[in-house]
Amino acid sequence: MEQTLVPVSGQVKETAQAAAEVVREPNSEENSPLAAANSSEAQALRAEIIRVGRKLWDRHYLDGNGGNISVRLGSRYVLCTPTLMSKADMEPADICFSDMEGNILVGERSRTSELLLHLEIYKANPRARAVVHCHPPHATAFSITGTTPPNGLISEYEIFIGPAAVAPYETPGTQAFAETVLPFVQDHNTILLTNHGIVCWSDTATHAEWLVEIMDTCCKTYLLAKQIGKPLHFIPDSKIEEILALKRRMGLPDARFAHSPEQANQPVGKNAAELERLVEQVAARMKEPD
Ligand SMILES: [Zn+2]
Repeated sequence: MEQTLVPVSGQVKETAQAAAEVVREPNSEENSPLAAANSSEAQALRAEIIRVGRKLWDRHYLDGNGGNISVRLGSRYVLCTPTLMSKADMEPADICFSDMEGNILVGERSRTSELLLHLEIYKANPRARAVVHCHPPHATAFSITGTTPPNGLISEYEIFIGPAAVAPYETPGTQAFAETVLPFVQDHNTILLTNHGIVCWSDTATHAEWLVEIMDTCCKTYLLAKQIGKPLHFIPDSKIEEILALKRRMGLPDARFAHSPEQANQPVGKNAAELERLVEQVAARMKEPD
């Protein structure tokens, strides 16, 4: 008997594609700082940072010169956004090239003061290869309350983020602020910064920006749903278990996992074929009628 393919909606398709692309790993050579800064890989990362900055700006996740983006290059270098510059206006020459201590190695511009936050994340969690920090209004609204939306309401949020963390308030730009995320950075790829904004890590800046979108959309959708005034429908626990099993196989972090050495050292998205197959399964299930 012939099987009928269930058409996949744009959103579900995008989710599947997003998950599949998580498997891409940066690949860089160890070079002298100047050679590394001029490498084609560094140029590609600058272009990606600029693209991500533009997306954050277009989505109103940034204000003034706020927000910052960084990406690791190999084990020794970091490219990041400059200080005092709108993320809508950046050009390749504006992107800073730093070592893992925050020292600018090539270029004239001063780096974002929040590179300290990014570096703490990179040093604490080698799986983090890119970090995005910004001030999306709905997620930042939650950060003012020191809370996150409940889990179990939106499947995309469960798959890509799971429980988000809330780091305590500290003065932005300081080392004390940078260290506020340390208790959370192993198990959470998305952290609300109390009275400030959000920080997300992933394997690429593009994927870290997706986490920002997913988090802010979840916060917004939850606020809208509350206004409807009807009881909220939660995803059954058994279905959450299925999502968690899927996330384990995808290599995505989730604070609901018990700590295990293989999870901690597993690269993000280690098995592309399995990942795609599992996401397709979830996508198909999401299309099933209630
Ligand atoms: Zn900020």
